[in-house]
Order: sequence, then structure tokens, then C-alpha cells
Amino acid sequence: MSDLMTNGAIEELYRSMGISAPVYNFGAEILEGLSERFAAIDEVAEYNQMKVLKAMQKNQVSEACLMGTTGYGYNDIGRDTLEAVYADVFHTEDALVRPQITCGTHALALALMSNLRPGDELLSPVGKPYDTLEEVIGIRPSKGSLAEYGVTYKQVDLLPDGSFDYENIKKAINEKTRLVTIQRSKGYQTRPTLSVSGIGELIAFIKGIKPDVICMVDNCYGEFVETIEPSDVGADMVVGSLIKNPGGGLAPIGGYIAGKKECVENAAYRLTSPGLGKEVGASLGILTNFYQGLFLAPTVTAGALKGAIFAANIYEKLGFGVVPNGSESRHDIIQAVTFGTPEGVVAFCQGIQAAAPVDSHVTPEPWEMPGYDAKVIMAAGAFVSGSSIELSADGPIKPPYAVYFQGGLTWQHAKFGILKSLQSIVDKGIVEL
Ligand SMILES: *Cc1c(COP(=O)(O)O)cnc(C)c1O
Repeated sequence: MSDLMTNGAIEELYRSMGISAPVYNFGAEILEGLSERFAAIDEVAEYNQMKVLKAMQKNQVSEACLMGTTGYGYNDIGRDTLEAVYADVFHTEDALVRPQITCGTHALALALMSNLRPGDELLSPVGKPYDTLEEVIGIRPSKGSLAEYGVTYKQVDLLPDGSFDYENIKKAINEKTRLVTIQRSKGYQTRPTLSVSGIGELIAFIKGIKPDVICMVDNCYGEFVETIEPSDVGADMVVGSLIKNPGGGLAPIGGYIAGKKECVENAAYRLTSPGLGKEVGASLGILTNFYQGLFLAPTVTAGALKGAIFAANIYEKLGFGVVPNGSESRHDIIQAVTFGTPEGVVAFCQGIQAAAPVDSHVTPEPWEMPGYDAKVIMAAGAFVSGSSIELSADGPIKPPYAVYFQGGLTWQHAKFGILKSLQSIVDKGIVEL
């Protein structure tokens, strides 16, 4: 044990920041059982760190790449090199990585709208996609949706045990099926998150039926959790947000699409204009954040993953429902905890907020958010507004009263946040230690 531990200096500092002895000790006991899993996470992070570094060195990232351009952004060497780095990290032919892609939903909409044509059909073989995509697809009628452009949609749900419904997927594939969208993370659902190898099996099955179909993976929250990505197992496109894992907490905006040259080109012509494609789009002053964020992303993701596992084990031990559970393997950084009462959800989120580096002094309350059918409480004391690679939590105030928790730029901060959440729950008398 270190000097700081034996002389109690760390515990004293925790105490001065509101963590009581019972909460601290409860956490310490849980941690003792996690050393093997944490070592495995560090090993994945080491692999991914080297993968990113190798891609940066191969593409000769240089000081000039960090400068950025203005105006049209012709010959933006930093932007073009960053896209080559992303392509190498994901082992794809090409990539589009831009601050002009405003968020994850935009990146996904761009990938879909640029690769589908009127008369084509889109298939989701893994059930309902992420909420915001319902309007992109037109599942919920919306201006500018794929449905308005004559793109139809089919969905095959997962089987009750979370496995693929191969029989109905086969039936759903027809002459119109042009693109298959596969969401890796469970998002705000209770289904399991898909492993990369599981995604590979699904893609192989689909390509066995229709080889020329485009397989796209919504990779949000999954990047760098494993040593391989969906593009390593047959995905034609992987798509995600830079204010989640691959931005490493430093990217202040942005999205990426990595994949087959033709798919990425289609997306570029849609993002800018036919005829212009990737050639325009000034990077302004943002490239250092993109490069440095990607460089840090493997270890940042590892920290968030440790936090998720720590939280799962704490709340599982206290008898709450946790998805994933304390011991199962991880394929994204999201942790769901079901409290069963509004008070539990509120206390948890208030604890997370109180641990934040920014806005720790404000108290989040449930509010009526546009687009939701119940009040929602959100805890986010982030450097980048809305960033969910930073320590954050939210939960709708409706049964089963679950919170979704993710992020933490460092493991140490994630740990403090979770101890603060537990302290808040103990202080409210919701659990006794
Ligand atoms: C976050 C997320 C999105 C949408 O990203 P935004 O940046 O919030 O628009 C899409 N799919 C999944 C699985 C996500 O987690």
C-alpha cells in the first residue's frame, strides 16, 4: 500500500469533499475485487494507444497539421491527414472527420441519406434504433426524413434473449434492401450491447444473403472498448460522435464516418456539395483538439469503462438492477442502474453533478424536455456542453426509474462521482450501508 493510503491522506481529502467513512470503505471493498478486470481494461487501452500512435506516425502528423485553414479550406493538410489517421485506426479505405458534422445524429443521418436513393429500403436487424434516428428514418413523421424521399424501412427485433432473429432477418431482406443499420450500443434500451464479434457474425449472415448490401454500424459509445472495431469484421461504414469516445473529451464538436471509399465519398458530397466533396470544409482552429483527443481516447475510454464497472458492482451489491451486471463483459461505456423510485434517480444524478469540475454547485432537477414523454433529470458538469464522454447521468422520471450513467475523463474522477452518487443516496435514506 502507498504512503498516501496508509497515512490516510487520500481518505482525508475525500472526507473533506463530502465522502463519509462508510461510503469510502464500501467503495474500497468493491474495488478490491476488481483488480483483474481493471488490468484487462488497461491492456486493451495499451493496445489501442499503440494503434492510434502507429496511425499518427504512419501518416506523418506534423506541426503544420495542427494549424487549420479558413474560408473554403482547400488543401487543408491537417484535415486530410486526420482523415487518413482515422481511416488507419479503423482499418478502412477512407474517413470523413469534420467539425461541420454537428453531432452523432447528424453523422448517422449523413451516412444514411448519402448512401440511400429513392426506392431503396433500409433495414435494422437489431430492433428500434436510437431515439433521434426515428425522425431521420421517418418512423416518427418528420420534415426531411428518409421516408419523405421515398426510402422505406424495415425492422427486425432481437429475440427475447437478445440474440439475432436470423429467420426473420432473412425474410426481411429483399431486392430493395440497400443498407443495413446496426446499432452497437444499447443506447437507452434494456437490450444487451452487441459485441464486435457478434456484429461480425450478423454482417456475415447478411452478406451471405445479399453481398452488395451496405452494412453500417452506429458505433456511438463503442470506440476503443475492444481491440477491434466493427470495420474489422465486415462493416462498410462505422459512424460516431466526437463528443463521445473518439474525441477523448477534447473535441468540442464533430462526427466521423469511416468506411469504404465509395460510402465516404457519397457522404462527403452530401455534407458539402456534389462536385466539391471532401475538398472543401475549413478546419478553423480545431485540429489540435481532434488530434490530441484521438490520442487520449483509448485511455479516456478505459477510465470511463472502469467507472461503469465500479458503479455496476456497487449498485448490484446494494440490490439494485444493473445492466450490464457487475461481472459480464463490456462492449460500450454505458451503465444502467434501476432504482425503482423517482427519489433514487434524482439522488443519484444530484450526486454525480456534485462531483463535477464545472457547475458542481448547481442542483439538477427533473424537467419537461422537448421530445420526451416524461420529465427527465440530467447531471452534466462538463467542459464541453452535452459531452457524454465526460462524467454524466440522466434518467427519465418514469418506471422502472432507471438512470443511465457514462463517462469520466479519468478513472479517478469517475470513482469520485460514483462515491458522491452513493453518498447522496445514503444521505437521502434510500439505502443503508
Ligand atoms: C449518442 C448516440 C447517438 C446520437 O448522437 P448525438 O450526438 O446525441 O446526436 C446515436 N446513437 C447512439 C447509440 C448514441 O449513443
